[in-house]
Amino acid sequence: MIYLDSSATTFPKPQRVQQAAANAMKGSANPGRSGHSLSLAAGQIIYRSRLTAAQFFDMEDETRVIFTPGCTFSLNTAINGLLSDGGHAVVSELEHNAVMRPLEALRSKGVSFSTAKVYPGDNDRTVDSFRRCINVNTKVIICTHASNVWGIRLPIERICALAHAYGLKIVVDAAQSAGVLPLSMQEGFDVVCAAGHKGLYGPMGTGLMLLSQDMELPPLITGGTGSNSASLVQPTELPDRFESGTPNVSGIAGLAEGIRFVQSKGQEKLLHHEMSLIRYAWQMLSGMRGIRLYTPEPDETSFAPVLSFNIEGMDSEETAGELSKRGIAVRAGLHCSSAAHIAAGTIDTGAVRLSPCAFTSKNDMVQTVRAVKALAGA
Ligand code: PLP
Repeated sequence: MIYLDSSATTFPKPQRVQQAAANAMKGSANPGRSGHSLSLAAGQIIYRSRLTAAQFFDMEDETRVIFTPGCTFSLNTAINGLLSDGGHAVVSELEHNAVMRPLEALRSKGVSFSTAKVYPGDNDRTVDSFRRCINVNTKVIICTHASNVWGIRLPIERICALAHAYGLKIVVDAAQSAGVLPLSMQEGFDVVCAAGHKGLYGPMGTGLMLLSQDMELPPLITGGTGSNSASLVQPTELPDRFESGTPNVSGIAGLAEGIRFVQSKGQEKLLHHEMSLIRYAWQMLSGMRGIRLYTPEPDETSFAPVLSFNIEGMDSEETAGELSKRGIAVRAGLHCSSAAHIAAGTIDTGAVRLSPCAFTSKNDMVQTVRAVKALAGA
């Protein structure tokens, strides 16, 4: 199979990730709950994994790396925590439902939000559009690092500076960018929410919430942490405050190994490889009769390795179905991001998305372009 659905989750998982997850499952039990060797082994796995993640994202304090079941959970924690007393948020027009639905649900608690327009390649205009959305009630800017539909990159370092200039917090949705684009907590982001199973090559059902040194939030869930069990009050210590319940030890072990995989390959090299494939696809498709592209030629500074298109007269789901019959896995429809499709005028058609990863070859892309050409009758 030619797998081009890495924005949903990367596949295959590297051999070393599979091995690390299997080893953790074989050799550990519930961490932080008991003093026996299997419990201690699990505690060690989690501690080492936390250190790996902290180092990867340039964090000094590994207790501010929170393991979660996914980016959605991380975003819900950040959004509900920051807006628990109401207030206003600014989001980009490219946000995923993992941002939009929690915000929409908070309307009943008096939360409102404004949407900033994004201008690919024109960061001044994009930052200005965020600035114009800020009002006296604004508490936070919540912003994707890269669109999961169009690959458009947002200038999050500049948006972070803007937020802080106005005394606001910034939450970055790094679902598509963690492991793919350069991302450092030294930039001053307050909260970074990441998926563990996409560009970090970890197992599905893993995610991260990275907190800045002075960021305080209430937890989304409370419960047993193995610590301070005599108290009915949720611990304030990190990471326990946010990690109630039995952790996904094998998933976390796999996630840390996925990060080591990215480190061993070199994040910049991987990005360069994937962007060259996306650029090739864009160049081939842009010259093809019957193909509709929605973005300018994707360069490495303004785009992440994601490209969406449509074949004229064909529903995106139908195109994906036909490609699937030819052994090519892509995603069609709205990609859980109706906002991003409304912004591009594709809410009725959806689009067909190509998203490569470290394991995608040039030949995979050549064959995919060939298949699209045949389907378009070009
Ligand atoms: N945000 C964006 C931009 C995404 O693309 C996704 C998943 O596709 C998410 C959030 C949710 O991530 P997860 O599936 O890890 O909860």
